[in-house]
Amino acid sequence: MGLAPRPIGILGGTFDPIHYGHLRPALELLETLELAEVRFIPCRIPAHRATPLITAEQRLTLAQLATAGQPGFVVDDRELRREGPSYMVDTLVSLRADFGADIPLCLILGTDAFRELLTWHRWQNLSDLAHIVVMQRPDVLPALPPMLEKFMAPRLIQDTLALRRKPAGSILFHAVTQLSISATRIRTLLAHGQSPRYLLPEAALAYIHDRALYRAPPVKITISE
Ligand code: ATP
Repeated sequence: MGLAPRPIGILGGTFDPIHYGHLRPALELLETLELAEVRFIPCRIPAHRATPLITAEQRLTLAQLATAGQPGFVVDDRELRREGPSYMVDTLVSLRADFGADIPLCLILGTDAFRELLTWHRWQNLSDLAHIVVMQRPDVLPALPPMLEKFMAPRLIQDTLALRRKPAGSILFHAVTQLSISATRIRTLLAHGQSPRYLLPEAALAYIHDRALYRAPPVKITISE
């Protein structure tokens, strides 16, 4: 009998911009769960939040710059190639079509994203298509909505190897280094002319500076007659 296939990790997000709070936990999961790869999938139109300040192509480029040179990190542009809002369930269907029915897929979520799961398009179908791996994020209360608790209970696993025994359907909570970094904070710093250096990779920051991204909008001056 051959070895069970190594799971593919899927980290979707707005990545507006990508930062070390995404990258370090992703690397830890890649190594500790022995994933074949982690695919970073920037959304085209976020389903759950306001339109980002920079274009989807710019967010994709930032993700490519930030992950360049890290074996096992892959940036996947499939959501940018799809019309309409970027629903994760559609993305998982398309990954299944590419990778086949047998390979374990692990949808990686921060605790805050997991708590919101019930608001996602066709959320009940997500675990038919992938496992869910929740990475602990600082500053987020662990209390979950009762309906989510109920959904979670029969699927919860402790043993990371169980992710390799079937292609989808389990939920694993996995502790990662807690980095209290958010894209919101980075955007705020830039809008105030302050530096987000050391919160995200230097190559991504250089691109942001070169193109003057996330600068505060020019103040409108109205001259009264
Ligand atoms: P924003 O501040 O704009 O809401 P964000 O920093 O939360 O953005 P997203 O692109 O929305 O970044 O997040 C993508 C995924 O990464 C989500 O599942 C989110 O929970 C997770 N994530 C974001 N920041 C962290 C962090 N510091 N630690 C662990 N997970 C994180």
